[in-house]
Amino acid sequence: MADTVVVGSMALDSVKTPFGEVDRVVGGAAVYASVAAGLLTPPRVVGVVGGDFPEDALDLLRSRGADLAGVERVPDGRSFFWSGVYDYAMSDRETLATELNVFADFSPTLPDSYRESRYCFLANIQPQVQLAVLDQLGQACFVMCDTMNLWIETERDALGEVLSRVDLALLNDSEIRQLAGTPNLARAAERVLDLGPRFVVIKKGEYGATLVSDDDYFSIPSYPLPNVVDPTGAGDSFAGGMIGLLARQDDCCDRELRRAVAFGTVIASACVEGFSLDGLRGLDGEELRRRYDALREMVRFEAMEWDEFDRPR
Ligand code: AMP
Repeated sequence: MADTVVVGSMALDSVKTPFGEVDRVVGGAAVYASVAAGLLTPPRVVGVVGGDFPEDALDLLRSRGADLAGVERVPDGRSFFWSGVYDYAMSDRETLATELNVFADFSPTLPDSYRESRYCFLANIQPQVQLAVLDQLGQACFVMCDTMNLWIETERDALGEVLSRVDLALLNDSEIRQLAGTPNLARAAERVLDLGPRFVVIKKGEYGATLVSDDDYFSIPSYPLPNVVDPTGAGDSFAGGMIGLLARQDDCCDRELRRAVAFGTVIASACVEGFSLDGLRGLDGEELRRRYDALREMVRFEAMEWDEFDRPR
């Protein structure tokens, strides 16, 4: 098992979906990703929280083996705040507010114990913060990044530099269209690969995810669920599951990447079953295995007997 650094927002979120609403609950890309990764490998978290950030969320991270030496606390500051509202199908959301608060002046200093980590997930946050972490990492063997429409619009140059330095970029379908300037996802993936990463993963919400590289193309549906409550954090949990598995196997070959995408899919399915961290909190090893095997069965299909097919009818 190798060491994994996770940086990104640690937040309080107010979220409204057709199934309910919550006010100032724990969220943030690094929090979701670390709780998810912690099912497989203990993450080393980098971020900043204000005095309003609940201690029990940090306890949950600790209980997953997370190292919080890289989490700064600003007792008289306010945590990153995001609020959003989802549409009826929960495939689209509108951001109502983004307040960087303590993240506005955050310049991370990695603890010495983090610097030789071999795996890294740059979860969603200002690209400058992602770059500051990359600058302080020694020889990481696999770096993944995520981002968001806000940073594509306002920090495109810094984001371009991040993309030029990572192995894998994760983007949802609307983000990759926006970043690549084309509505065609296959072409958009090619354009993002041209910016530097060796792999691109396109997240398509309930329609699953697609992994693209120069030598591979792999698509998987999402795990079907009767009760989806809140999609917030699905992408981060997906990514946390991926990096957690890669670090655990300490291998980034194409075969492992496909497996990591499937693992991420299963972990994300637990996240969307509740608000905040409730869904991830309830996921145990047995359920994880059950869903992984069920998902694998769903996408299995037999090879064609072409000789049979060619025979006249
Ligand atoms: P996801 O649903 O996977 O896109 O992630 C949602 C999480 O990202 C929420 O918990 C938010 O706190 C966090 N978030 C929202 N906007 C941003 C942003 N611009 N930068 C970093 N994190 C964000």
